Amino acid sequence: MNILVINCGSSSLKFQLIESDSGRVLGKGLCDRIGIDGSFISFAKGEGDKIKKEASINDHSDAIKLVIKTLTDPVNGVISSLDEIGAVGHRVVHGGEKFKAATLVNDEVLKAIEECNELAPLHNPANLIGVKACMELMPNVPMSVVFDTAFHQTMPEEAYLYGIPYEYYRRYKIRRYGFHGTSHDYVSHVCAELMTRKYDELKIIVCHLGNGASISAVKNGKCVDTSMGLTPLEGLIMGTRSGDLDPAILEFICNKENMTVSQMLNILNKKSGVFGLSDNFSSDFRDLEDGYNKNDENAIRAVNAFCYRVIKYIGAYVAAMNGVDAICFTAGIGENTSFVRKIIVDNLGYLGIRLNESANALRGQNILISSEDSDVKVYVIPTNEELEIARQTLKLLK
Ligand code: ADP
Repeated sequence: MNILVINCGSSSLKFQLIESDSGRVLGKGLCDRIGIDGSFISFAKGEGDKIKKEASINDHSDAIKLVIKTLTDPVNGVISSLDEIGAVGHRVVHGGEKFKAATLVNDEVLKAIEECNELAPLHNPANLIGVKACMELMPNVPMSVVFDTAFHQTMPEEAYLYGIPYEYYRRYKIRRYGFHGTSHDYVSHVCAELMTRKYDELKIIVCHLGNGASISAVKNGKCVDTSMGLTPLEGLIMGTRSGDLDPAILEFICNKENMTVSQMLNILNKKSGVFGLSDNFSSDFRDLEDGYNKNDENAIRAVNAFCYRVIKYIGAYVAAMNGVDAICFTAGIGENTSFVRKIIVDNLGYLGIRLNESANALRGQNILISSEDSDVKVYVIPTNEELEIARQTLKLLK
């Protein structure tokens, strides 16, 4: 069955048409600058090159219409009619405590997602607009919603509660939710397959290191802890997000710089992380690697702090699970930046881990990068959130 996977942002819409049995991508693309001057669609057939076309895209409904038109185009399309789309799988960022798994869409589900909007005010409303636009244009096609938070809903109370008055949890559901769940889910399952071991008998740490970065502990097939919190600001040092910090810093800087809390949060989200730590040198690890190799002190400072935070979290999650069988690296940095993996893995000797340097130099595939004699296996596993969304959608239909 062909499943259309939609990832809708406030002004963009990413899509992939996936043949769910084989996992083959028939076509994928992006509608960008929705509702803004200069909107366009880019599309690639299978493994082909991307073609970019300017188009008037006033809203998300226009975007979905354009996606359907592009997929069914007689010359450059990949299907002959809408009938060849069996289902649509939507990424939704926040499912709160209501959604512990993906689900098919109905009015009740839409309402429940809306109730989670205040937990992800930038993302959830945009995700919902995408779902509703698709429902309007494809009324007979089943739709699913797959949540970034759902995989982490198995965390025990001691992992998801903050040390603040319990009434804030009771009243406002202030707790750790975690994000990137679809990726942690996908990567931890691939890891078990590569190890030819049962998923529910393993202790796995997944390091999803992209612009946004998070790490999770998966014990006996269940997520037991993850580094992102109520919002994606907590945890690791990221591209531009600070990750963990003493909350008292907020008031201190607000007073010194005469700023409001929301101005300060903007700095913690957009001007911090390796970008801020490198004194605004770059948030991109391609630049940071270059700087690191040229002995640039700003790049070295940022890279070392980034790696140190990952090393510290790995140690914490080994403790949380009372052991570990495998550690996986994924996402932009995890998959591509071998020098970062080396810094991290070289600090895991206490776990009996040794790096296989030649394997660590490879990319673009599932790779075992620990040496044969390592007690704990270390893998690079390219993530595939779209395929995971398609698979979960297919499972719901069966
Ligand atoms: P997100 O989805 O959170 O935006 P990605 O998973 O796409 O993030 O990761 C983006 C980051 O990955 C970039 O900022 C860059 O630092 C890093 N990255 C991507 N490709 C490469 C590469 N070929 N070499 C080194 N770093 C890379």
